Amino acid sequence: MIELLIHKRYFESTVEITRIEEKDGKFYAYANASPFYPDGKGGQLGDRGKIAGVDVFHVFEKDNEIVHQIAGTITPGIHEVIVDQKRRKDIAQQHTGQHILSAAFLEVADIETVSFHMGEEYSTIDLDVPFLESEVISEAEELANRVTQSCYTIEEIITDIEGSKNYNLRKPLSDKVTGEVRLIKIDNFDVSACGGFHLNNTGEVGLIKVIDAEKVKGNLTRIYAVAGKRALKYFQKYNSVLKKLSKMLTSSVGELELRVEKLLNQSRDQALLLSKISQEYATVLSQNLSNKGLVYLEGYTEVGNFLAKIGNFEDSILVFYDNSKYIIASKKYDVRNFVSKLIEKFGGKGGGKSEFANYQPTKKLKFEELEEVYHEVYNRD
Ligand SMILES: [Zn+2]
Repeated sequence: MIELLIHKRYFESTVEITRIEEKDGKFYAYANASPFYPDGKGGQLGDRGKIAGVDVFHVFEKDNEIVHQIAGTITPGIHEVIVDQKRRKDIAQQHTGQHILSAAFLEVADIETVSFHMGEEYSTIDLDVPFLESEVISEAEELANRVTQSCYTIEEIITDIEGSKNYNLRKPLSDKVTGEVRLIKIDNFDVSACGGFHLNNTGEVGLIKVIDAEKVKGNLTRIYAVAGKRALKYFQKYNSVLKKLSKMLTSSVGELELRVEKLLNQSRDQALLLSKISQEYATVLSQNLSNKGLVYLEGYTEVGNFLAKIGNFEDSILVFYDNSKYIIASKKYDVRNFVSKLIEKFGGKGGGKSEFANYQPTKKLKFEELEEVYHEVYNRD
């Protein structure tokens, strides 16, 4: 049987705890029924609050029992509860917003809602289309906000499956539904069978804003949305970020996009130029290097890397310090042996291929120390 009633128990002020379970340092209080709405039921967030003064972190259904994860242990028996009403109001706001938005997509583009999920930051609605034009999203969003601004009364109608046939339900009832049915009727705009928390008037939903959309599961479009207080918070956060960016980049918000594009292009050009200069410098350096034995240099990483690539180390080994690590290259010796010896003697870490490797020291080494290792490893005088 599918339960579509919002049970009286959600408005009670006590709960009967049948047993307590302690597992991995966490406490679970079991009940056969509870004023706490469980997390995930009907896609909704669960209630929070206190049982006998102890915080409730999480509520879930398990084999016909309601399990409350609580902050400490309590004794089985009847306890007073406090359900966080601010959170329940937020849940009702997001949930009512979802009814309105789902109905709006149906109204403007004949798109059905497959499922919905409420998270701590936003809600998602999966729509039965593989692709959605941004114009359709805007149209549905605008209609949804006209509905909230119209301050329609939201009625709760308790009937049965027969009685429900007098209403134009957005989604037909499943055959599995028996007994009483609860309908949520938003004026002449939408009627849905639902067992969740709702508001009494669409005006209480406040702003409804779609914040993102993406293709999921191959053929559905997931809409991310916020309503009410969350929509205000979202707007405040994004407004503050945009204002900071516009101050940093000395540009109006409207011109930010162009400004950032220009900066990115400049940065790309400069990186390219720097790379070319490093390459030319490495070429000049390589022409004056000794081609025998240990060749030691210090400088910028890019120069070191280019030098390792283009230099003639047929009969020598390059050790280049870039102020943080050593770049080591040779066409004669397997430089991995050199790195292994450095690690063995001085700690640090490193690795690479036979012709090119990196060594990250714990501190900068003296030239004599490098020379000593060179002689030890390659047995040179
Ligand atoms: Zn609902």
